[in-house]
Amino acid sequence: MHPYLQEDHLDLRAEVHQFAREAIVPVASEIDEDGRFPWDNVKAMGERGWFGVPVPRRFSGMGRDYLSYVLVVEALACYDASHAITVSAHTTLATSPIVAFGTPAQKARFLPLLASGQVLGGFGLTEPGAGSDASGTRTRAVATRGGYRINGSKIFITHGGVGEIFVVTAVTDPAARTRGITSFIVCKPTVDLEETRRLGIGHRPKLPYSAGFTAGAREDKMGWRASDTRQLFLQDTLVGEDQRLGDEGDGFVNFMKTLDAGRIGIAALSLGIAQGALDVALDYTTRRRQFNRPLWEFQEVQFGLAGLAAEIEAARQLTYHAAWLKDHGQPFAREAAMAKLVASELAAKSARTAVQSLGGVGYTSEYPVERMMRDAKACEIGEGTSEIQKMVIGRHLLKGIDP
Ligand SMILES: Cc1cc2nc3c(=O)[nH]c(=O)nc-3n(C[C@H](O)[C@H](O)[C@H](O)COP(=O)(O)OP(=O)(O)OC[C@H]3O[C@@H](n4cnc5c(N)ncnc54)[C@H](O)[C@@H]3O)c2cc1C
Repeated sequence: MHPYLQEDHLDLRAEVHQFAREAIVPVASEIDEDGRFPWDNVKAMGERGWFGVPVPRRFSGMGRDYLSYVLVVEALACYDASHAITVSAHTTLATSPIVAFGTPAQKARFLPLLASGQVLGGFGLTEPGAGSDASGTRTRAVATRGGYRINGSKIFITHGGVGEIFVVTAVTDPAARTRGITSFIVCKPTVDLEETRRLGIGHRPKLPYSAGFTAGAREDKMGWRASDTRQLFLQDTLVGEDQRLGDEGDGFVNFMKTLDAGRIGIAALSLGIAQGALDVALDYTTRRRQFNRPLWEFQEVQFGLAGLAAEIEAARQLTYHAAWLKDHGQPFAREAAMAKLVASELAAKSARTAVQSLGGVGYTSEYPVERMMRDAKACEIGEGTSEIQKMVIGRHLLKGIDP
């Protein structure tokens, strides 16, 4: 018996692995090279419910626990991090804040589209001048009759082009500093109209699209290349008051909570990369022979992979524990930051070790480990860098200690 995983968790995980082997593995290298968003698989994953795993059933979600979502992201990332971040960013960054802070009307309007994967969502927090320090947000929302006029820009936004529903932050009261930041739900049409017409998903003309809300060019990234990352521009963008998410001034606290949960997803994604790289290295080193024996029989190789396996299991327990705490209504921010820090750095180490274990072919696109090495780096940056995770953990360490 497993302390965290029940029968339905194992079934879901097996289903994702099977899908990934059949539908993701054949395209992963090509979409990475082309930087192409995997719309066909997005549709297939949406039909399986994976864009709304922890979302209540009444909003077209699967109604499963957070651990189930973690397992889906981890399993996808064993094969391709771009698919995994597509599910992860959509679920924890775009959908979760509406589940947590939305009004009944906002939930009814936006969640069924997001949870079913009919439309993709994103989270616009980072700005050119406000990265690790989001209190430096400059995007400004000024109250108008019946709503707000927003001006500013966001950078590095996952699904910035392909997505339609975004939770963005803007300053409503500059004097109040972080208590003057507010969240809004802002919509724009997808940039991939042709693809979405072909597949019948990704675009809903009835959404309240706001004029002046547009996406920039696709970022040419080192990793997560099949994930869509862009700038977002808000130029005199009008949104109704009914699109304010939470009260005025609640934006900062609310996105901190959103990121706490999001970090468990990035930890899961990192774990998947770490495990996927180890699996490839195990398979290769037990088949490849040099000096008349399999590489695996050289202690240097075997010990390296054995050590990785132990570290992956430790990071997995920490990640599942963070998800379990969240599922049981207990504080989890410290464990989420720890899981993200440990798992993301482990993903980088595992992919690097795998490349080394494969030698020359590991450095080519014939094997996925070079892609995993590039993909792993993003896990140490997105949703708070490793340094920011240490700041969060440090703050928790000091709690309860008298100065
Ligand atoms: C692929 C990708 C997808 C992304 N998706 C999204 C998204 O969907 N939505 C969104 O809002 N953002 C997104 N981001 C942005 C991401 O969250 C930021 O890049 C990240 O928070 C770091 O901010 P920055 O890039 O401005 O770096 P900076 O904040 O400028 O940091 C640069 C370096 O300085 C270090 N540093 C900063 N402050 C400190 C400190 N106090 N102590 C020690 N070191 C410090 C950082 O750790 C980092 O190493 C994405 C980024 C990437 C790369």
